[in-house]
Amino acid sequence: MPADFDTIVNLAKKRGFVFQSSEIYGGIRSAYDYGPLGAELLRNVKDQWWRSMVQMRDDIVGIDSAVIQAPSVWVASGHLASFSDPLVECRECHNRFRLDKLENLNQCPTCGSKESFTEPREFNLMFRTNMGPIENDDNAVYLRPETAQGIFINFENVRRTARKRIPFGIAQVGKSFRNEITPGQFVFRTREFEQMEMEFFCHPDEADEWFRYWIDERRNWYIDLGMNEENLQFREHEQDELSHYSSGTYDVDYRFPWGWDELEGIANRTDFDLKAHAEYSGEDLTYFDPVTNERFYPYVIEPAAGATRTTFAFLIDAYHEEEVRGEQRAVLKLDARLSPVKVAVLPLSKKDDLVATTNRVADLLRPLWMTEVDITQSIGRRYRRQDEIGTPLAVTIDFDTLDDDQVTIRDRDTMDQDRIPIENLVTYLAERLPN
Ligand code: ATP
Repeated sequence: MPADFDTIVNLAKKRGFVFQSSEIYGGIRSAYDYGPLGAELLRNVKDQWWRSMVQMRDDIVGIDSAVIQAPSVWVASGHLASFSDPLVECRECHNRFRLDKLENLNQCPTCGSKESFTEPREFNLMFRTNMGPIENDDNAVYLRPETAQGIFINFENVRRTARKRIPFGIAQVGKSFRNEITPGQFVFRTREFEQMEMEFFCHPDEADEWFRYWIDERRNWYIDLGMNEENLQFREHEQDELSHYSSGTYDVDYRFPWGWDELEGIANRTDFDLKAHAEYSGEDLTYFDPVTNERFYPYVIEPAAGATRTTFAFLIDAYHEEEVRGEQRAVLKLDARLSPVKVAVLPLSKKDDLVATTNRVADLLRPLWMTEVDITQSIGRRYRRQDEIGTPLAVTIDFDTLDDDQVTIRDRDTMDQDRIPIENLVTYLAERLPN
């Protein structure tokens, strides 16, 4: 059973994962701020993506490109030209249609919904602003609607300086902005969001093989990080669904409380982008293979995921309500690599000597793991709170600790307890908290 939407949103607000942005001013629609736990969770998701894409591989490097790029980038990519017609969007499936192409204004041709369309608008998805103090068309610039183009325009810089031969990839994590007509579903669709995109450059003849490879790799990434396989679906796009640049696309869908919806798109972008940027910039963006003496435009396989959206999916997926030893509890069964707090250190009472030992233990752990000390309320309530925020391990300091220098470690999922000497604590935790 998928977790209930309101339960997750309430937990996110109550525990400090996500706040409505500008809440003290009544909030701004579709913008959210990540609180102490949400910032950690989001950062861990991005770090795990970076680790698997960049750190663990010899054939992918990372970059961090500017949000504001030359306007020509968006001319070449097609972003400026598309979406300039009067558009309406289906309120149900969010597909957008040119008003003049719609046969029936009362029914969505994609999902069949009779929920109605939004008002038509001359619509470009990109946020426009001005570079410098003068506001006119010559100074218009755009906030990037995807991180991918920052990679394509740096293809040659990176190839040369990182001394890479194809096949190789360039990865990037960062903010993107889209003036969505209908944002919603909490952090699922927002106008400012974060993406994790990787462009993998390969020989055109090998593109199909790499496409299949990346579909498998990405499936493994989600499952390895604990996402329930039954809540994941890989769906191939029909020919008429494909974007202008793509010869094949898979959507990675998650079973959200409202139904299947996209986490990531994996596309074979062919040589569309490099060719377009070569044409508009006048630069040579072909690749020369020194072994075969062949010169060609590489094909690109792109796994493009949403960081904020994926974080939301991990949160939903981890949420469980269960009865253990006659007690009802809510627990986030997050993979320890994603948990915002890795270790809680909890003294049994607020007595000075227990607190002093607690601080000594916390000081030992802090350089290694995100550690939280909690000395308020009953120990039972503190365990419940740590369960609810997904802390995998809790170290309890009790009165015996003062005599034997041993602590009790409680496992979030099994609730089993081990008693070990403080001097063995770091080794014990290191075995259970992988990078
Ligand atoms: P959608 O169909 O949901 O609008 P898209 O197909 O336009 O998404 P892509 O351009 O493929 O999305 O972007 C790659 C990923 O970036 C998406 O799979 C999604 O996870 C994320 N993403 C795109 N738009 C948003 C948004 N408005 N809010 C949050 N994440 C987004």
